[in-house]
Amino acid sequence: MERTLSIVKPDGVRKNIIGEVIGRFEKIGLKVAGLKMASLSKKEAEGFYAVHRNRPFFESLTGFMSSGPVVLMVLSGDDAIRKVREIMGATDPKNAKAGTIRKDFADSIEANIVHGSDGPDTAAFEIPYFFSALEIFE
Ligand code: ATP
Ligand code: MG
Repeated sequence: MERTLSIVKPDGVRKNIIGEVIGRFEKIGLKVAGLKMASLSKKEAEGFYAVHRNRPFFESLTGFMSSGPVVLMVLSGDDAIRKVREIMGATDPKNAKAGTIRKDFADSIEANIVHGSDGPDTAAFEIPYFFSALEIFE
């Protein structure tokens, strides 16, 4: 059993595909172990994506991530981190494989619908960034 943090980004919420994204995670056998909506402040988005603080896209990315409500979730299951990354597709939807969430719905490398932790260390930082232990159920 492994946990990972996923986000339906503001573009996914605006496109009305919250259920579609969560449904794809459920269909591959992952459990929704924690779930909530939030509207991230610029500062909260900057803290979440702090590893990217020196990248040229950081200002734009954190502006985008704080541009509207998001859906935050903890997913749990066997190999959850890798499974979520696989079904998300490549960061740039132009490079994403057929049938992935980003291939099907994303408009650009920035507005790419969904986030998923990229490894165990990242998940261990990201899950408690948004969820207390009492808010996680699997
Ligand atoms: P995420 O961390 O959101 O799950 P990822 O791991 O596929 O996505 P990262 O390299 O961690 O990609 O980049 C974080 C986010 O920053 C991307 O999902 C995207 O929204 C944005 N981003 C990445 N590269 C660029 C870029 N070259 N131009 C604009 N935005 C970018
Ligand atoms: Mg990443």
